[in-house]
Amino acid sequence: SRRQHDLWKAIRTVPDFPKPGIDFYDITPLLLDHVNEVIDAMLAALPDGLLEQIDCFVAVEARGFVFASLLSGRLGKGMVLLRKPGKLPPPVANKSYALEYGSDTLEIQGGMAPRKVLLVDDILATGGTLNTAYHLCQEAGHDVAGVLVLLDLVDLHKPFPVPVYTVLEG
Ligand code: IMP
Repeated sequence: SRRQHDLWKAIRTVPDFPKPGIDFYDITPLLLDHVNEVIDAMLAALPDGLLEQIDCFVAVEARGFVFASLLSGRLGKGMVLLRKPGKLPPPVANKSYALEYGSDTLEIQGGMAPRKVLLVDDILATGGTLNTAYHLCQEAGHDVAGVLVLLDLVDLHKPFPVPVYTVLEG
């Protein structure tokens, strides 16, 4: 569509960053110059009725926080923050995972009442991050309705256990 075309044009592709052979998609120009269109497009990527079913968003540090905050501000639904290790006070649960480049750990706060949630991040690449986020949510008792991203690099990951909603596919 026209909207997708305009959003793609604002994404800068950086070859060989942060390692040789990797194409890095820099979505920060979208946050600077197209923030309303991005949030409109993310909401339009969701099926009718889904937002009414969810209690809150679950955001992945760090750019997921930005998108979830913008969605949250629009809709008045809150968010749970999945953080890098050592940031959340106990009780927490954590999980480590391999990245496209390196490895990482995510933590979730324990002791929360179970919610119906939508996972939010900027980019789905190998899926390691959002898979880990999904399992952390499940283990914390939350019901994950799906994953919402701006850009899904479909060829880099296996099928997901829940639906993936995206504005752009790479
Ligand atoms: P994954 O775990 O391989 O799916 O990578 C997803 C995480 O790495 C997300 O949190 C993204 O923010 C980040 N990421 C992966 N690829 C890119 C990229 O091309 N540009 C910016 N961030 C990326």
